[in-house]
Amino acid sequence: MFQTKLLLPCLSLNMAKQLLQFTDNGIFCAEGNFYIDPWQPVDDAVLTHAHADHARAGSKRYLAHELSREILKYRLGADISLQTIPYGEKVYKNGVQISLFPAGHIIGSAQVRVEYQGEVWVVSGDYKVEDDGISTPFEPVKCHHFISECTFGMPVYQWKPQQLIFNEINRWWGKNREEGKTTIVAGYSLGKAQRILCNLDLSLGTVFTHGVIENTNDALRRNGIELPLTERITPDTSKEALKKGIVLMPPSAVGSTWMRKLQPFEFGFCSGWMNVRGAKKRRAADRGFVLSDHADWDGLISAIDATGCESVYLTHGYTATFSRYLREIGFDAHEVHTLYGDDESESEDPTNDLGVGSAEEADTKKTGIKEALPPERQVLSFGEDLGEAGLGETPKKESI
Ligand SMILES: [Zn+2]
Ligand SMILES: [Zn+2]
Repeated sequence: MFQTKLLLPCLSLNMAKQLLQFTDNGIFCAEGNFYIDPWQPVDDAVLTHAHADHARAGSKRYLAHELSREILKYRLGADISLQTIPYGEKVYKNGVQISLFPAGHIIGSAQVRVEYQGEVWVVSGDYKVEDDGISTPFEPVKCHHFISECTFGMPVYQWKPQQLIFNEINRWWGKNREEGKTTIVAGYSLGKAQRILCNLDLSLGTVFTHGVIENTNDALRRNGIELPLTERITPDTSKEALKKGIVLMPPSAVGSTWMRKLQPFEFGFCSGWMNVRGAKKRRAADRGFVLSDHADWDGLISAIDATGCESVYLTHGYTATFSRYLREIGFDAHEVHTLYGDDESESEDPTNDLGVGSAEEADTKKTGIKEALPPERQVLSFGEDLGEAGLGETPKKESI
């Protein structure tokens, strides 16, 4: 999948010049001898956040934000060698300065700023620009080179303010409660679940959790993060209490025996992909709530603009479409090939260590593009994004 043939000549040409490079192991700083979000085990890994496609097990040493500490230990192993720092604190590796800045994606998520001899690079990791009330809000960081995600880098992706979405969710919960049905909401266990939890109208009833979400909540609580009270579902949980309450569950539990036992219920799915007609139906959800922990089209452009960067490297998402648009408006934009995946989909699976989405998820993206664009643009974009959507065709990528 990775284009080694392209990479080698580029490395020999650019090794001396570029502070950060894309290698078979991940984003690499040769001067500092460390990687950022590597997808192979390495000696020194700097992590942007704890989602499975960015934080992988097996590296000798990790550096991450202090609010990622417990969740990283929970996901990667209690015995990992982990150094944590607050936002803005500087650490040095072989004379290269590293510091973390808020990415607004999930609790503890960070952009990694790397500086050496006056040259500044920033690796965004995943990010969103809206303040979700629970993650430290995104902060633009001035740099020469910005390595950005673009999960939702298509004009059709425009988010409404989250308060409107939470009003919808709370009204829907109230209605289900009156009808004697359990309300179930699916969302990624790290980030989305806590964002939902902190914005629910808790006067309506108890918030129940699936074990994966409760374990995640527990890890965050051990890290000193105050979350509203939640109750783990067990065989003893009362059916009557469930009918008044709301259940938070990870996307991986959709359609499971565990879920079926909660009947009668109404089921809603929270994801940026709910923006696209057909996505709700494909997930058998009664309701789709458009809520994403990634920047939308305008958010991506404003974030990139605010860095004042000379060049942008796009790691995952609609890299072809988005980099072409950035070039049209005057940015020096490049696509790069990485193994970062999609944490907005239904296939949350920490063991999916390739970070590549399921066929169903790829199909959703593909179909989403077809449905969301006017007919004259469908064919072009459809072809472009097949490879990124994980359908097996490798798009042409540029190594730096
Ligand atoms: Zn993420
Ligand atoms: Zn990601």
